[in-house]
Amino acid sequence: MRQAVMTQPGKIEFRQVPEPKPGPGEILLRVKQIGVCGSDIHVNHGKHPFTSYPVVQGHEFSGLVEAVGEGVTAVQAGKKATARPQVVCGKCRPCRRGDYNICDVLKVEGFQAPGCAQDFFITTTDKIVPLPDSLTFEQGALVEPTAVAVHSTGRAPDLKGKNVVVLGAGTIGNLVAQLVRCRGAKKILITDLSNFRLDVQSSAVFPKRQTPIPSPSPMPRNESSAKKGSTSPSKPSGWKQLWMQPSIISRREAPSSSSASLPKNHASICQSPATVSLPSSAH
Ligand SMILES: [Zn+2]
Ligand SMILES: [Zn+2]
Repeated sequence: MRQAVMTQPGKIEFRQVPEPKPGPGEILLRVKQIGVCGSDIHVNHGKHPFTSYPVVQGHEFSGLVEAVGEGVTAVQAGKKATARPQVVCGKCRPCRRGDYNICDVLKVEGFQAPGCAQDFFITTTDKIVPLPDSLTFEQGALVEPTAVAVHSTGRAPDLKGKNVVVLGAGTIGNLVAQLVRCRGAKKILITDLSNFRLDVQSSAVFPKRQTPIPSPSPMPRNESSAKKGSTSPSKPSGWKQLWMQPSIISRREAPSSSSASLPKNHASICQSPATVSLPSSAH
């Protein structure tokens, strides 16, 4: 089978390697779709502090169950699935209290452990997330980043009727804005320096952009240049300050990874992007 190996920043080699066989408790997935995460880009640029080379990237993915090992009952061959990318010990204190995403010896597939950028990929029964047939493979590959948005917006207080600011319109910010909307926010303001990202966000969440977005210009270098002209859009009057930073807040002082975990009821969130109907007036 083919395996995409990043041998150094910016260089990927396709290698032929033997197809793995699932052992007890393991599942062999035929990879169908892989998402590209912001952290994958950092690895590509050699800027990810916790990744060394060579590395097989890929941690947001979906596929078909090709075969299952002994004792696996969670999925059957031929079914769609994705999987959590964290390799954890299950014994340390964070693992025991359910915070496996900050396991003392955490490895994340695609960074410190081989990822899914290969034709077939082995995962384990404790990490597998079965997907409904109605979900496309593209949607399946978005389950992991969507889980970030589900988790982070779930940590906020009740959002019904609130005005929410989302900082950053990348994939996570985009999904956070959609989740915020699903949770009943009244108005959502999303910011970014990239018009491309704002356009994507616009088509996903806002039927039409409410205010023109100025083209990005260099940040003012000093106070006098700042006074000459600011390109920052002014804050609409009457907004209460409820800020949602679309990033993961670890409860550790020195997190070793920025990956978030799927919430405990992860199976149900697979349906959210496909079936939740968004209130048309909530923008
Ligand atoms: Zn990611
Ligand atoms: Zn652990």
